[in-house]
Amino acid sequence: MNSENPEITSLREALLLSPDNLPLRRVLADALMRGQCFREAAEEYKRILKHTSGDHTVLFALANALWRAGAVTETTMVLENLIRNHPKFAEGRLLYARALQHDGELEKAAYHYKLTIADHPELADLSLEHALRSQLEGEKRSGPETQRVPDGEIPENFEPDIEKPKINFSDVGGMESVKEEVRMKIILPLQNPELFKAYGKVAGGGILLYGPPGCGKTHIARATAGEVKAAFISVGISDVLDMWIGQSERNLHELFDQARRNRPCVLFFDEVDALGANRADLRKHAGRNLINQFLAEMDGIDVNNEGVLILAATNAPWHLDPAFRRPGRFDRVIFVPPPDMAARESILKIHLKGKPGGEMDVRKTAEKTAHYSGADLKGVIETAIEGKLRAAMKTGKIEPLNHKDILDAASKIKPSTREWFSTARNHALYANQSGQYDEILQYMKAGKL
Ligand code: ATP
Repeated sequence: MNSENPEITSLREALLLSPDNLPLRRVLADALMRGQCFREAAEEYKRILKHTSGDHTVLFALANALWRAGAVTETTMVLENLIRNHPKFAEGRLLYARALQHDGELEKAAYHYKLTIADHPELADLSLEHALRSQLEGEKRSGPETQRVPDGEIPENFEPDIEKPKINFSDVGGMESVKEEVRMKIILPLQNPELFKAYGKVAGGGILLYGPPGCGKTHIARATAGEVKAAFISVGISDVLDMWIGQSERNLHELFDQARRNRPCVLFFDEVDALGANRADLRKHAGRNLINQFLAEMDGIDVNNEGVLILAATNAPWHLDPAFRRPGRFDRVIFVPPPDMAARESILKIHLKGKPGGEMDVRKTAEKTAHYSGADLKGVIETAIEGKLRAAMKTGKIEPLNHKDILDAASKIKPSTREWFSTARNHALYANQSGQYDEILQYMKAGKL
C-alpha cells in the first residue's frame, strides 16, 4: 500500500468518506487498470456492478481486468453474460473470441471472431486470426477425436436443395393447431407487415413439432412453404453432421445463410433430437459446439432472421437439449398426435384425389382406422390401388376403386403409432419436468390410446 501511486491512494481515501459514489469508484478502478493492478481493478468493477448490473461498459471493463489478470475462465463467463445482453457490442465479442482461443475452444472462437469483423472490419486482429488458422489446421491433423483430413482433400461444402413446393394447406388433413400457429408466425405477418411491426412482431421464428412418426410433420412443413410461396429447405440433422471437426458447424451456418438469402423461406430440420449432447453417437465436443452454433444462428445475433421460419421435427423430444425451448428459439412446441376421425377422413380424401373412384364411404374407413398415421393411411390407399392394378392387368379392364378395396387394404396394414406411445408414456409419466409432455398424457387419458 505504501508504494501505491498517490493518485490511487487519494482516490481510496475519498471513497472511504463516500463509499456509494459510483463514478468515483469507477475513476479508482480505471486508475488501478492504468497502474496494472488488474485484480484490484476487477474487484472495484464488481462492486460497481452490484449497483449497476446492466451497464455493459462496466462489464466490459471487468472482463478486461480479469483477462489481463490471467483469469480466463472468469473472463469468459463475464463476456458470455455481456454478449447475451448486448450482442452488438463488438469489442466484447472480440475479447470473447480471444478468451475462447486461449481456452482451446477454437471453432467457437473462430465463429465469434468472424461475427465481429463481419460488421467491424476495423477490429481485425491479425495475430488472433493467424493463431486460429494454424491451430485449427493442427487440430484437424492430429486431434485424437478428429478424423484426419487426407492431404490435398478439402471437405466438400454442404449444398442444400432449395425447393418451391407445390402443395399447400389443402393437401394436409387435420393438424389445425399447427396450421393456426404457422398462420400467426408467418402467413399473417407477411400479409400485414405494417400491422405486425407496430406490435413489434415480424414474420418468422421457430416451431418445434413432435410426435409419432408418419403423422405429417415433414408434410406440413413443406405445405407451409407452398402456402406462402416461400422457398423450402429440408435437412436431416445427420446430413449436417460431418466427420471433420468444425465442418458440421460450417454446414449449419451455410444452411441458415441460404435460408436468409432466399427469404421468405421455411427451413425445416428433421430428427433435430440428433443434436442432443448426450447421444452416444455424437462425440461430446462436436455435439456441444454444434448445439451452440445452432442456437447462435437461431438467435440471429448480428444477422436478421426476419422472413425465415424455422420448423423442426422430432420423434424423440426427450433427447432434445432444453436450451432449444427458450424464448426466441422454438418457443412454440406442438404435439402432433395421430390424426383424429375428421383428420383421417380428410387425409383419405386427399390421397384418393385423382384416382378412379367408385362407391366410396370414406367416413366408414376413417372410423375403422383409429391409431393409423397419415403415412399408414397413404399406404392403405396405395395398397388398394396396387390390388386394382394387378386385377386390371389380368382382365385388361380399368375398375374404379371402391369402399371394400380400401377396407381390405386397411386390414393388411397395421397402425404404426402405438409403439411410439409405449416409449412416450414412460417419459411423460416420469420425466415430465414443467409439464412439457402434458399433451401426451392428456391424449392418453382421453382414452385415445
Ligand atoms: P417422421 O417423423 O417419420 O419423419 P412425419 O411426421 O414427418 O414422420 P411425414 O413424412 O410428413 O411424417 O408423413 C409421411 C407421408 O404421409 C407424407 O408424405 C404424406 O403423404 C402422408 N401424410 C402424413 N400426414 C398427413 C396429413 N395430415 N395429411 C395428408 N397426408 C399426410
